[in-house]
Amino acid sequence: MNAAANTESKIHDWLERRRPEMLTLLRDIVNTDSGSSDKIGVDAAGAVLVQFFERAGIPVSFMRDRERGDAIIAKVARRDSNDASPILLMGHRDTVFAKGEAAKRPFRIEGNLAFGPGVNDMKAGLVINAFVLAAFNEIGGHPASIQGLFTGDEEIASPFSRLLIEEEARKARAVFNAEPARPTGNVVKGRKGAIFMLLEVFGRAAHSGVNFFEGSSAIDELADKIVRLRSITDGKKGITANIGLIRGGQTVNTVAPYAAAEIDIRFVTKSDREAVLDSVQAIADSCVVPGTHASLSIVGEFLPLEPTENSDLLFDLYRSVAAELGVKVDGEFTGGCADSGFASAQGTPTLCGVGAVGGKSHTPEEYIEVNSLVERAKILAISIHRLGPLHQQN
Ligand SMILES: [Zn+2]
Repeated sequence: MNAAANTESKIHDWLERRRPEMLTLLRDIVNTDSGSSDKIGVDAAGAVLVQFFERAGIPVSFMRDRERGDAIIAKVARRDSNDASPILLMGHRDTVFAKGEAAKRPFRIEGNLAFGPGVNDMKAGLVINAFVLAAFNEIGGHPASIQGLFTGDEEIASPFSRLLIEEEARKARAVFNAEPARPTGNVVKGRKGAIFMLLEVFGRAAHSGVNFFEGSSAIDELADKIVRLRSITDGKKGITANIGLIRGGQTVNTVAPYAAAEIDIRFVTKSDREAVLDSVQAIADSCVVPGTHASLSIVGEFLPLEPTENSDLLFDLYRSVAAELGVKVDGEFTGGCADSGFASAQGTPTLCGVGAVGGKSHTPEEYIEVNSLVERAKILAISIHRLGPLHQQN
């Protein structure tokens, strides 16, 4: 056996033997509530990981935020020139669930399935990243330094972590994001981008019986805008406009002084972003109900994960390693967004969905396949081991 194959078989066996420890770490982190707006919880979930890294002898550093969960970087270094262009493993600790959810339905295993809040999206992925880091720290053989970035605000479009993700991704030779694999076991090669917007319409209140014609109905204007917003959707280009929320008005017998809509625009290529934004702005600016005006603001945003030649190479590598381990993996495109879009926009080859195999994210039925925890950790680790100069960008 040559040295490289020997290292890989050591990594393989080391991870194989860590199945119970992986499940214990997953249990502890799933049972720690960490909704995006619960900073204390997101940091507590971070502390579970930090304890793991301390036991493993892996140094960690923190980027603190007052409002959102702190970002944590765990680093397995190489003491040579390859330190300049590390491999980045990403994951988010926050979930969409409120405090108390873990007490209501704590981590549990039934057969080959594990359940609990955030188990799939994406605490299992965090456990995979943590153990891949630990495997290389123990065995060595990593072609470059490996950085695990554990953020806390992805479910709300990473208002705090985005800059850090972009900075770390820019330096990296390759990025793996451990968001869940699809229920089929496939990973994610492409994702849509999204802009979440608030459209507010301001009118003038009036008594609907006494002085109806002195009023300007914000609801009438918003209704007209909503109809016009349908023109944004373009199935062929993969552009969609969803009005997910509307609110407004005062009472049934008052001409509405205020109305608002929350809009979710999705698009496939970064180059479509400006044109779509301009179209929505034009609809916001032109009011047909006299006496009304509107304002449009962006409240959150994800960039699309656009496949490139180099990200295809990264996927090919992952797929071939999986095949060697007897696992058939393909690449999928999804309309769902993730931090991998921010990473790939830096020009760094990025592969998403390298977490556990599971489904039903954001619901009480959310699950992972327990066997996939070790399986995906092995595929990821061996892919990292084989990351050659082909994947070196910088
Ligand atoms: Zn996620």
